[in-house]
Amino acid sequence: MGPDLIKLDELLTETSRYKAELVAVSKTKPVGDIMTVFEHGQAIFGENYVNELLEKQPQLSDKIQWHFIGHLQSNKVKYIAPFISLIHGIDSYKLLLEVNKHGVKLNRSIEVLLQVHIASEETKFGLSEQECRELFIRVGSEKLSGVRVRGLMGMASFTDDQLIVRKEFRGLRKLFDEIKSIPSGNNSASDFNTLSMGMSSDYQIALEEGSTMVRIGSMIFGNRK
Ligand SMILES: *Cc1c(COP(=O)(O)O)cnc(C)c1O
Repeated sequence: MGPDLIKLDELLTETSRYKAELVAVSKTKPVGDIMTVFEHGQAIFGENYVNELLEKQPQLSDKIQWHFIGHLQSNKVKYIAPFISLIHGIDSYKLLLEVNKHGVKLNRSIEVLLQVHIASEETKFGLSEQECRELFIRVGSEKLSGVRVRGLMGMASFTDDQLIVRKEFRGLRKLFDEIKSIPSGNNSASDFNTLSMGMSSDYQIALEEGSTMVRIGSMIFGNRK
């Protein structure tokens, strides 16, 4: 079974109503499926694994904007730095410095989001709210030119309780608005405008709570094995 283009159209209509962007999450899916979705007009794709991304990227249109949405190891930054258009999962100063280093080397300002831990599960990656504030301020004061912090990213708890999910998204939006108002050298306020939250199971709640970017995989591409 290939991608569901009717669902894709519905998602595009829905996200545009909220002026939000759609990231089509193509992890584990073949390049043929990505091509189908791209030819239907979707240009932003999200991948979780560096090796998989490096295998797919050269086989597909260079008009695709690749987002890295998984957990990124510092030693792998160099492979994606030349072409990645947004890294969603910055969760440490060390990783941010590594991205900056490659940005400087390549003479580009690599766009990133700071990942905040909003779920109740212990296992998920991400910064605490306080670490996130501190990291943002640090980037500004150090004037890192190889990296640009465009916003925040978060994943809600895996739960059927929509009230919990809503509360977590609302908290992240609040932090986003707060950080957006911090004056920062490297990141003018207009630069900090992206809030990546919401997946297949919870994107509607995320949009209602002020998401500007949803990351949707299985709803478009079908379930993963
Ligand atoms: C896999 C993944 C998604 C998409 O999940 P679906 O439930 O398939 O929509 C979104 N964000 C992240 C970080 C992911 O790893």
